[in-house]
Amino acid sequence: MLLHPLTWPDGKRVAASITFDIDADSLIRNACPQDGHLRLPQVTQGRYGPTVAVPRILETWRRFGVRQTFFIPAWTMEAYPATAEASLKAGHEIGHHSWRHEDPMGLTDEQEGELFERALETHVRMTGRKPRGYRAPVYNATPGVIARLIGHEFLYDSSLQADEMPYLIKAPQGEIIELPPHWGADDWPPFAHFEEIGYLMPVRAPSDGIRNFIEEFEAAHTHGGFYMPVLHPFLTGRLARWMVMERWLETIFEAGDVWFAPLEEIAEFAKARRDELRVDTIEEPGA
Ligand SMILES: [Zn+2]
Repeated sequence: MLLHPLTWPDGKRVAASITFDIDADSLIRNACPQDGHLRLPQVTQGRYGPTVAVPRILETWRRFGVRQTFFIPAWTMEAYPATAEASLKAGHEIGHHSWRHEDPMGLTDEQEGELFERALETHVRMTGRKPRGYRAPVYNATPGVIARLIGHEFLYDSSLQADEMPYLIKAPQGEIIELPPHWGADDWPPFAHFEEIGYLMPVRAPSDGIRNFIEEFEAAHTHGGFYMPVLHPFLTGRLARWMVMERWLETIFEAGDVWFAPLEEIAEFAKARRDELRVDTIEEPGA
């Protein structure tokens, strides 16, 4: 059923990365730049992520012996340096996720570029290297963003949705691997309730919401695909939800046929098989 299947390493059936975007209170500060810092319910809702949920998630990854990927806005890395440090110390990857969760589509190319570079400097200073992957806030990558990633020799993007397998983006400036997300494997639809950014959803029971991620996995597992839920510590890292998620993940780890890896390793693997990948073309801006 997959048009562009890949044979994963060591006879594994699925390549998986349970990715978390640690947005924290960058969300409310970006949505309400004048008084976001005064909106304590939304600030603390976000702050719960790096301070309570991430230690919980890191403990699960330590117990399972896996390294995974976190995307963190650079503002959040600076506001919560212990979170970035703990993730790095455990061998996890940190990807570029904007400066303060600004939506690239709401900015001029110049504004976006300035904030992108500012975030890059934070990554280099705090992690000792340029990130190899990028995910746009709200997945809103533009042709300008993709050009910038290629210019900075990023290995992969994780914002666009032309396939469910890793694929190759061909842009006027060059190529980049895409590790595609989609809304069905994102935890905002089942769990988010955030009026200030126009996101009011009927919050679902933990087992009900997490069923999305389980059924996505079952399809990837059946067809030898790629599994990459896009989760947020302040949503799926909540006690009851993480308890359900962790219990399910335990059964996956026990089965032993899943290749759990940070996205950069999956992107490297895909890049080495470039000719087997689906190709999606991005046109010249203005074309
Ligand atoms: Zn985000």
